Amino acid sequence: LTVGTESPNFLGTKKRLPEFNLTDRVVLVSGGARGLGLTQAEALMEAGAIVYVLDRLKDPSNEFYEVRDRGRNNLGTEIHYRQIDVTDDVNLREIVHDIGERHGRLDGLIAAAGINKEGDSLEFSTVDFNRILEVNVTGVFATAQAVAKEMVHRGNGGSMAFIASMSGTIANRGLICAAYNASKSAVVQLARNLAMEWGSHGIRVNTISPGYIVTPLTEHDFKSSPERERFLADGNMLRRLSETREYRGAAVFLVSGASSFMTGSDLIIDGGHHAW
Ligand code: NDP
Repeated sequence: LTVGTESPNFLGTKKRLPEFNLTDRVVLVSGGARGLGLTQAEALMEAGAIVYVLDRLKDPSNEFYEVRDRGRNNLGTEIHYRQIDVTDDVNLREIVHDIGERHGRLDGLIAAAGINKEGDSLEFSTVDFNRILEVNVTGVFATAQAVAKEMVHRGNGGSMAFIASMSGTIANRGLICAAYNASKSAVVQLARNLAMEWGSHGIRVNTISPGYIVTPLTEHDFKSSPERERFLADGNMLRRLSETREYRGAAVFLVSGASSFMTGSDLIIDGGHHAW
């Protein structure tokens, strides 16, 4: 039995666990040019999906250019890139509609685009506060709305997962920014409401709430000293920080038929941090 993320066709061509199979499903991943979104985009592709990464323009030396040029690979799956700021709702709608027209379907969304800025709330500027909410909440809403419009138009339903954070439900001691934590809390409630509104169209909406993950967004902080890393890691039951690959299965699960009766829920993956 070959089960595991190392095997390229572990869920796809051999048709094991068919409910996880995403062959020919079209899935968008916002913020998928790097970090968590990139890892999840790759997982979705390995499960058979045609993946579109939506992200801001990057330095040409960035790893995501590899993703952009990958096209159809030897697994017969594809990963494409579209440059967009998720707060640009007009262009978002156009891009999402074009993708729907091109493939005649749109099945899933992982909304991972997000920003943070550290700062003490006594000094934090309202400009920064608003921008964090604009990207992390309004940007998720705009992306979900564009995708839902297309799903409703196609009439086949679909599934979305927004990347929230354990910081949405607890005051945390890692990323010290109230705006970020407030934005992640809002995203969980946003998902619940959209799940209720769009359920009759067969559209499911859930969130994933990760614990601390070492990514380009966080590395400079989490790894700034061994003491800092230990301090953060000691907050969860496994006493370590997580890696992006530990969220691959969650993306495939939530987008696929494996989670067909799950909506309006928050999937907490934080090493037990929230329960301690
Ligand atoms: P990264 O910064 O590594 O990746 C996020 C990607 O989203 C970047 O490519 C970023 O581009 C892009 N992005 C940001 N704003 C926009 C925008 N307006 N339009 C389009 N793309 C945008 O972050 P992570 O991988 O660490 O985080 C991914 C998600 O997971 C975020 O929502 C984050 O809040 C959440 N999360 C992360 C945790 C962690 O510990 N890392 C823990 C819990 C949740 P650019 O580089 O230009 O900013």
